[in-house]
Amino acid sequence: MAEINRRATIAVNVGGVWIGGNHPIAVQSMTNTDTADVARTVEQAQALALAGSELVRVTVNTREAARAVPEIVSRLRERHITAPIIGDFHYNGHILLREYPDCARALDKYRINPGNVGMGRRHDDNFQSIIEIALQNAKPVRIGVNWGSLDQALVTRLMDENARRSEPRDSRDVIMEAMVVSAVESAEMARSCGMPADRIILSAKVSGVQDLIDVYRTLAARSPYALHLGLTEAGMGRGGIVASTAALSVLLQEGIGDTIRVSLTPAPGGDRSEEVRTCQDILQSLGIRTFSPRVTACPGCGRTTSTLFQEMADDIQEYIGSQMPVWKEAYPGVENLKIAVMGCVVNGPGESKHADIGISLPGTGEEPKAPVYVDGRLMTTLKGATIVNDFIGILDEYVETRYKAEGD
Ligand code: SF4
Repeated sequence: MAEINRRATIAVNVGGVWIGGNHPIAVQSMTNTDTADVARTVEQAQALALAGSELVRVTVNTREAARAVPEIVSRLRERHITAPIIGDFHYNGHILLREYPDCARALDKYRINPGNVGMGRRHDDNFQSIIEIALQNAKPVRIGVNWGSLDQALVTRLMDENARRSEPRDSRDVIMEAMVVSAVESAEMARSCGMPADRIILSAKVSGVQDLIDVYRTLAARSPYALHLGLTEAGMGRGGIVASTAALSVLLQEGIGDTIRVSLTPAPGGDRSEEVRTCQDILQSLGIRTFSPRVTACPGCGRTTSTLFQEMADDIQEYIGSQMPVWKEAYPGVENLKIAVMGCVVNGPGESKHADIGISLPGTGEEPKAPVYVDGRLMTTLKGATIVNDFIGILDEYVETRYKAEGD
């Protein structure tokens, strides 16, 4: 694994999953179903958890949603889904948590947005109410600032202070500062209500990559709390994935961030679990955690006029995906396996030797045979129409031999 100097933070136990300290950076996600719809929310939360989401957040926006939460959590536990369930509150969290104590008890953490708990005196009262309920139930909180709902009273205060400076700062810098101040001052308020430091997680999400990097660097320098990292409203598809990866990678490489979420907008009917896989891919690409065997495949070029190697790389990736739920249990460490599927002799044998198991397919003009390398040594040469299945057979055997649990 990569040697990344993690910033020291105070570890928080969220329903049995540790966030911060020296604990692995946790992957989390959020449902987009109507929480009041118990069946659909349970289905999606289960799918997210099975895809690898180590914590799952649900919005709790109405009385119906708050009423549904205990049933959702109970059904998930009946299905042996143990991922902590987090409630996302805005505007009326203090009311819902007070009116629905079973909801407050069932959730593993409350997310509070200090920008929309009320204005002036009511802001403080409502915020403190949520903290008190969290204390009564021994739950941690995430104080989640978002620049789309930043505390306007705070922004006005900082803008006024800035205007009085001899050399006023750019208004963008004042907004970024307001994000950090909102998170830090809210944490101080929570502490003054008796909330221990090891039950506080902070986040300060913005939608611009450079803004996010600036905000989190400052936040990390000014607070000891565990940080939830994510680019808010990252967008759809490739754009969202690239922007999230760019922002999160810089910060993670600097040791900033204890849990991550990638906020992708799914296509209508699209797979919500994509955001979980993206988080895993970011952590795995950086060498921070491993989740699944890695298939190295060359991009192909004029030397690969057939699509065999693309299809093969795809088939193998798909095969691994389908096997992983079983492999994970039966073969501890299998996620570290490295496989290479290469298109021709130029880099094929070399890359295949670097992998645990690799195949170098014949490029244009090469003899129609595919050498297979295992642990850096030529093991066999495959030919004919059954190359893919033959290779998968060798792969199965390798996994079985190398990763079989001791004592089996
Ligand atoms: S390994 Fe061969 S086919 Fe693949 S990109 Fe390199 S030269 Fe092209």
